[in-house]
Amino acid sequence: METVVIPASAPFEEVLAAVTAARPTHLVGYATVVGRLARAALAGDLDIQPVRVSTNSEPLLDEDRQAIAEAWNAPVHNQWGSTEIGAAATGCGRGAGLHVCEDEVVLERVDANGVPVAPHEPAAHTLATGLANRTFPFIRYDLGDEVAVLPGPCECGSEFVRLADIAGRLDDDFRYPTCTVPASVFRSVLGTNPRIAEYQVRQTATGARILAVGSPDVPSLTRAIARELRRQGLPDPEVEVELVDHLQRGSAAGKLRRFVALKESGRNSGL
Ligand SMILES: [Zn+2]
Repeated sequence: METVVIPASAPFEEVLAAVTAARPTHLVGYATVVGRLARAALAGDLDIQPVRVSTNSEPLLDEDRQAIAEAWNAPVHNQWGSTEIGAAATGCGRGAGLHVCEDEVVLERVDANGVPVAPHEPAAHTLATGLANRTFPFIRYDLGDEVAVLPGPCECGSEFVRLADIAGRLDDDFRYPTCTVPASVFRSVLGTNPRIAEYQVRQTATGARILAVGSPDVPSLTRAIARELRRQGLPDPEVEVELVDHLQRGSAAGKLRRFVALKESGRNSGL
């Protein structure tokens, strides 16, 4: 087996050229990068036929999963984990969601006071205790992701508990004085536009500033976002769409934050 490692933070043109040259049979990568590669394949800019695709490090959004399925018709194994604990759950490619790696990690879904909640109840925190790392153990470590348990057995036969696909960090929602706008509102407009390869939404006091890679019709896109924000209860939203060559990824691990909320003062102090 030959392994080719391509930095996710490299300019996309470099990633695309490297993947084209490597012609991988198994494609493993950040969910938004693999999603963008799938859109490139659908647009005729990438000719590869992977037999298996694995995504990691970022939430696998529906828009990316669909693009991957359309581009390559290969099973998708989504993985969820953290630098601190390692792999916490992985998709089997058959049933929905991800199986918890129960031999590697103990996951506890708890309320705001740290008390475990039932599988069907929403949790305030997800705590992870790693079973493998004895040198630097993490015990009841708050992963910060919102996870929900899927009921019933999986068609693959595994007995390991399944989680629904990880939606993302709890602070993806944008809180304005008059309303809360879920990230899905932006996603439904931006993620389904075939002329947008990648985007980032930054909350502003009165609306949002959107950085987009691609060639969308900016005036109509701006109007569409403003219309959705008004429907959510934000009066007179100010929306700005800026086309950029590339998006800045986080320096530490190269992750793309698609939604950057405005930090409110007093948000965590019960005000
Ligand atoms: Zn399964």
